[in-house]
Amino acid sequence: MSDSPYQTLCHAVADASLLGATSSILSWDQETQMPQQGVELRSRQMAQLARLAHQMGSRPEIGHALQRAIESPEVAGDPAKAANVREMRRDFDRRTKLPARLVEELARVSSSAQHEWAAARKDSDFKRFLPFLDRLVELNREQADCLGVPEGGERWDALAELYEPGCRAAQVSAVFAPLRTRLVSLIDRIKGATKGPSDRFNQEPFSIDRQREFMRWTAERIGFDFSRGRLDQSTHPFCGGSHCRDVRMTTRYKETCLNDALGSTMHEAGHGMYEQGLPFEHVGTPLGEAVSLGIHESQSRLWENQVGRSAAFWQWLTPQLPAMLGESASRYSAEELYGAANIVEPGFIRVEADEATYNLHIMVRFELERALIGGSLDPKDLPGAWNEKYKEYLGLTVPEDRVGCLQDVHWSMGAFGYFPTYTLGTLYAAQFFDTACRSSPGLGDGFRRGEFAPLRHWLNANIHVHGRRFLPGDLCERVTGGPLSAEHFLTYLEGKLLPLYGLA
Ligand code: ZN
Repeated sequence: MSDSPYQTLCHAVADASLLGATSSILSWDQETQMPQQGVELRSRQMAQLARLAHQMGSRPEIGHALQRAIESPEVAGDPAKAANVREMRRDFDRRTKLPARLVEELARVSSSAQHEWAAARKDSDFKRFLPFLDRLVELNREQADCLGVPEGGERWDALAELYEPGCRAAQVSAVFAPLRTRLVSLIDRIKGATKGPSDRFNQEPFSIDRQREFMRWTAERIGFDFSRGRLDQSTHPFCGGSHCRDVRMTTRYKETCLNDALGSTMHEAGHGMYEQGLPFEHVGTPLGEAVSLGIHESQSRLWENQVGRSAAFWQWLTPQLPAMLGESASRYSAEELYGAANIVEPGFIRVEADEATYNLHIMVRFELERALIGGSLDPKDLPGAWNEKYKEYLGLTVPEDRVGCLQDVHWSMGAFGYFPTYTLGTLYAAQFFDTACRSSPGLGDGFRRGEFAPLRHWLNANIHVHGRRFLPGDLCERVTGGPLSAEHFLTYLEGKLLPLYGLA
């Protein structure tokens, strides 16, 4: 019997996805194993794979197969297959809407822009980066027009769609506004507090070898499956790999701050367990892929924060530390360690920010990139606008662009519309966790006894198993019974921080 139109389409799409999966292993290799001098040829290898993957994924044969599958009764009568086809069509349309000239120009400019950005950041020299930023903004506005601005929306929406399907600037802004007001007032109260947690533990040195063993043990205990994944080391932690049975995550180590490695490991393990929870039978098609960056980030934040920064987690972990890290760890109580994992301190650098101030860093970037793409902010005025917002939101005077508008790689990569997914993920995490705890009482309390499987199974069954069947907003409604709201996160954060700082 020959394949049905749906099967033919799935095979063609899964086949085209193999090159992308292969290049993902190569980029993991580049970050963790590759000798320094390998970089020049590796960039050419990666560029060739990207070009071939794009060609394979936008072949006219896939367009024809899509059409036949859409018209087939097999797809019309099966909601999961229909969703798979809907998403394959989204990917195909996106690929074929962009002229090859624009794709190549974006790749070329962002490759040299990243190089210039790194040098500009080192010297805190915004002028050096400005011509590249100018060009990238221009190309991204063109890209938005090719992709198509959603009805009633704006150009930024068309770009955000690449990372978070259905995301609109107007909705993001409506969710962020009340979040900002409450966060600014929470942070102000904390700044004025007369007592707070001690950070003594965050200066306690532990050998990197012992930390490495400890991180592997922790990842395994919370449920990362090492028969289908690895944990290695890289400068910037990430989670990659090629499919749900080969997940590659990394962490980083600082001798004097165990919480740095622990936070990164819990975070990446959250990403990793999402990848491992995707259904293997759908590998290479949307039903076997993660929904969006925002939903991916909800999984990492949930394990990093709702689990890894909870009192119950530290009650379980603290008595185990001396055996694994050495006697010096026995000088700390669970209470002190819980406090040390939850210190709030406004700073300039996003990636070093705590749970409370982090989202203000994101709001600054969202508002500025929306203005850049919308045309109300000229790239040359970026540093001034950036510094003004840092003063207003975080109460900080930015001393130089190196720790200001030049700190992140995203815009130099040509990624506009990406930043809000971090905060969306934070908000989704709190909302999902609330729902999980309501549906199985005692779930959070089980952390005290090292019981993490109930949470992982809940996430598997409610989120991971669906792949891209539901769009992010629909998934949230389906899982939690309501649209995304900042309320769950704020209640969680205030409930934790106010008592820690003696304010409740
Ligand atoms: Zn992440």
